[in-house]
Amino acid sequence: MKHCPNQDCENLVRHGSIAEFFDIVDVCTDCGTPLVPGEAPRPEPPTYRELETIYQAADGTQAHLIRAALEEEGIPVNISGEALMGAVGELPATMLQVEVQVPPEFAVRAREIALQCETGRPSKKTPD
Ligand SMILES: [Zn+2]
Repeated sequence: MKHCPNQDCENLVRHGSIAEFFDIVDVCTDCGTPLVPGEAPRPEPPTYRELETIYQAADGTQAHLIRAALEEEGIPVNISGEALMGAVGELPATMLQVEVQVPPEFAVRAREIALQCETGRPSKKTPD
C-alpha cells in the first residue's frame, strides 16, 4: 500500500481523504506526486461530514460566485458535485447541479448571502 503525500492533492480536496494506491503504482493518479509507502494516515475526520447544504447552484460558475461571497465573509465553504462536471463533458444539465455547503453554525448567514448573490442585490438592506 502506498499513499499520496500531497496536502493539496485533488483527491484530498474533493473527497476529504488521502488517496491510497497499490504498490505497483508510482505516482498519484490525481496530482502526479510520487507516492510514499504505507497506508495513508487517518487524520481526525474534519467537520466535513457535518456540513450543511445551503444552496444548490445551477452550475459551477454560480457556485463559485457564492463561494467567493461567503469566503469574503470568513465562512468556510465546500463545493460538492464539481467532480462530476470535470469528469464528463456531456452530462445532462440536471446532473450538473452543484451544492454549496458550509458548517452548520454558518448556515443561516450563508443562506442569506447566497440569496443575495442570486438576486444580485447588495448585502445592505435598502429602505422601502
Ligand atoms: Zn495526489
